[in-house]
Amino acid sequence: MRHKILERIPQEQLQQDLERYRQRAIELGATDAKIITTDEVIIDERVLAKCTYPKCPSYGTNANCPPHAMSLEQVRKVVSNFSYGVFLKLEVPPEHTAGQEAIDKGLFNPYRKKLSEIAAKIEAEAFYDGYHLALAFASGSCKGTFCPDIECQALLPGQPCRYPLKSRTSMEGAGMDVYTMATKVGWDIYPIGAATSPADVPCGMRLALVLIY
Ligand code: SF4
Repeated sequence: MRHKILERIPQEQLQQDLERYRQRAIELGATDAKIITTDEVIIDERVLAKCTYPKCPSYGTNANCPPHAMSLEQVRKVVSNFSYGVFLKLEVPPEHTAGQEAIDKGLFNPYRKKLSEIAAKIEAEAFYDGYHLALAFASGSCKGTFCPDIECQALLPGQPCRYPLKSRTSMEGAGMDVYTMATKVGWDIYPIGAATSPADVPCGMRLALVLIY
């Protein structure tokens, strides 16, 4: 039997459900998850500037990345209409995310795919629990994650996304400063790129967010 939609969720039930989603994310494979309030979601124009300066290969190639994704103004309004979310972390071994070889071979891809699927699953479970507006944000470009060698179907007129139950806009594609957000909840996060040696960092990290209520 499904829960009926309530005009207002009692605070005790909401807190129990948030904790259940937090634990569920870990059960599904997240390394850690934290309940956060939406005033801890940091939205910053400089994050979107990083999509174009220098231009990311995913920019403009799919429905979930800028400039097709929600504008920062929309994201700010959407986030402000929620009170709580569950912030998800998936740790990635350094050799699968740091350095040119990891980038060239896409060794991080299975991790962002896994985290995107976890976030979308939590969103779906919350929806069926009566949190009908729950909304997930994933990590990285869905084009690279799910449709690397084919064009984005969702950009074609009248066509939906091929993976509506898995693919979401990334936190960074929505202008969220995931690095600072991770730091604020106590997760050690390092700047990692092509010039990083795997020996220089203890781990990499993918991050996702599910706004619940
Ligand atoms: S069709 Fe593929 S590239 Fe387009 S939005 Fe969906 S997952 Fe992303």
